[in-house]
Amino acid sequence: MKSLAELADAPVRELPSAKRGLRALPNTKQASGKNAKTRADALEEMGIFSLLDLLTHYPRRYLDRTTQVPIPELKEGDEATVMATVRRARRLPSRRGAKPIVVVDISDGQGYLSLSFFNQPWRLQYLREGMELAVSGKVTTFRGRRQMANPSVEVVEGEWKGRVVPIYPQSEKAGISSMEIGACIGEALRWVGELEDPVPATALEEHRFAGRSWSLWEVHQPESMGGKSEARRRLGFDELLRLQLVLVMRKRAVERECQGIAHNVGSELLSRFRQGLPFPLTGAQERAISEIEADLAKPVPMHRLLQGDVGAGKTLVALWCLLTAVSGGFQGALMAPTEVLAEQHHISLRAMLAGLAVPDGASLWGEREVRVELLTNRTTASERARLLAGLATGDVDLVVGTHALLTESVRFKRLGMVVIDEQHRFGVEQRSALREKAGGPVPDVLVMTATPIPRTAAMTVYGDLDTTVLDELPPGRTPVATVWARGPLDVEAAWETVRDEISAGHQAYVVCPLVEESERVQATSASEELARLAEGPLAGLRIGLLHGQLPAREKEAVMARFRTGELQVLVATTVIEVGVDVANATVMVIEDADRFGIAQLHQLRGRVGRGAAKSWCYLLSEAPTPDGEERLAAMERTNDGFELAEVDLDLRGEGTILGTRQKGVNDLKLASLRRHRKYVTLAREVAFDIVGADPALARHPALVRELRSLVDDEDREYLFKS
Ligand code: ADP
Ligand code: MG
Repeated sequence: MKSLAELADAPVRELPSAKRGLRALPNTKQASGKNAKTRADALEEMGIFSLLDLLTHYPRRYLDRTTQVPIPELKEGDEATVMATVRRARRLPSRRGAKPIVVVDISDGQGYLSLSFFNQPWRLQYLREGMELAVSGKVTTFRGRRQMANPSVEVVEGEWKGRVVPIYPQSEKAGISSMEIGACIGEALRWVGELEDPVPATALEEHRFAGRSWSLWEVHQPESMGGKSEARRRLGFDELLRLQLVLVMRKRAVERECQGIAHNVGSELLSRFRQGLPFPLTGAQERAISEIEADLAKPVPMHRLLQGDVGAGKTLVALWCLLTAVSGGFQGALMAPTEVLAEQHHISLRAMLAGLAVPDGASLWGEREVRVELLTNRTTASERARLLAGLATGDVDLVVGTHALLTESVRFKRLGMVVIDEQHRFGVEQRSALREKAGGPVPDVLVMTATPIPRTAAMTVYGDLDTTVLDELPPGRTPVATVWARGPLDVEAAWETVRDEISAGHQAYVVCPLVEESERVQATSASEELARLAEGPLAGLRIGLLHGQLPAREKEAVMARFRTGELQVLVATTVIEVGVDVANATVMVIEDADRFGIAQLHQLRGRVGRGAAKSWCYLLSEAPTPDGEERLAAMERTNDGFELAEVDLDLRGEGTILGTRQKGVNDLKLASLRRHRKYVTLAREVAFDIVGADPALARHPALVRELRSLVDDEDREYLFKS
């Protein structure tokens, strides 16, 4: 019985059928001699080096010969696939300058069909008489005859006998056909024979998964269409399970390895903080805090993700954690992805902490104010030196910053709590870098996502974290009415609403079109937009400008003038995406809204609807792309960030959302976080069951062998040292 690890070590080159030359295509140069390139060469060009690579090169689709429609039964307008033989291929004589047309007549023994290829003269070079093809396309009639124009064509000639024919992803450049790939795979399957199945039988039985060896054969050489679907289900589940096992083990390893801090929860400092708040906590905040406190009280480092929609009040929960650390004599750090956000957090933390004192034996009064500082790349050298000293001596309780917090020179006296406001930008590595700065026991980590991400994606992107969800907004918010302004009249109505709201004493935001080039260009275009509005639809109003190129001091001055109501309209780039919090602002107009992603639009919209008054968000966009249209329609339809996150995942696909941050995602060939949400959840449950009952996988040696061969060196050392 072979294991996946053995397959990963077996080179494709050794496979006799891979040593064969590529079938010489009858095109110009190779027509006469033998093609010097072997199948193995071509496979390697496609990134297939081991038998594991080869056997996980799954068919892109399947042709079911049993349900093939005979050519005589094809009707005009049908989308059909036929298997047929080439009878004649020729190039139509064309007038000078006209595009060349290749016409190929095919027959399935019962009838004839013509295929026309426009402007693809190379078709003539390889479509020889007698060749067997699978042709898919739409049936049309031309001069009374049925035909297909520019159909997709796969050469299926060869030894293929099965009823369901797999079609492999192939590469024009590598020059290997689906059938040749299939031949190599067939041989590899025979070499493998039985494959070890390390997934516990109980899990397989409970969820009715097929056996692994059977699945591997069936996926490549199916008996039936139903069979290959079962096979793909099983193999896809294995991919998800391996990924989740690695994530769950990583999580357990952190807990096992590290000495954490048992924080002093429910302290006097926190009751005073609670009493000083101008509002009661929401039910969701209470739940989140008790969930988090249970973690904080344990001597195991916390590793938790806090998800919540825009405006759900995550900052308060974060501050609660930071203060818990402070009340036990530890320090806290809040890390933000951008300077603007760090500055904004700094301001709001200071505001919330105003007047709050911590016990201090060294002070005359026995207490002092909580000391919060800001560290970004803009911090001046002298301030920086002072601040670093304060962190090292422990005089500074809380520090808010950007990546600057990760630089070498930053050292804490006793860092106890790290909050990361993440926005998809911090990786696992950075999280651990910050943990290492602590000096003593490992601090607890809370990651806040500013934008909800779908649950299944969260399980993977943040699979090594526990999750807390803030699923309730503070009371008194009115949902924002969102309008997609598609034409000039709608746009006029949007500006009219802005003017009306301002006459009623409210305020408005205008978000400038997104300019990709640079911050500088973006800033210029924002000031031009302001000039245009001041002369046109917003003439006579008090308008301010906010963009990323402004110095921090000016930015803060502009925001302060807007906050006090001195400015009625704030024209801004996406810098207002984060942190700006003015309950009196009731309208937002987003120009060229189709250029923004859903997450960003939702985040922007979250700046209005913060008070009790009715609010509007106008999305200006006259000619969006189809994707843009779906984004805008989704924004009009719902205010629910989690629902929008699902739409986003559907539109963008997981690759773009997950990026490269999770290496294991590359192992997902059959499974999709998007299409197989149910199985992601299932895989996570099974992974927890397995690791929970057997943390070092001592009773699953085969599983360990398999995982070891799939993870990279660093993880291998970390996860499997016993
Ligand atoms: P998020 O970061 O989740 O988008 P914030 O933490 O910025 O949300 O909070 C949004 C607004 O809601 C802030 O003005 C904050 O003061 C306010 N807020 C937070 N918690 C409550 C609460 N329990 N009741 C009323 N307002 C709250
Ligand atoms: Mg916030």
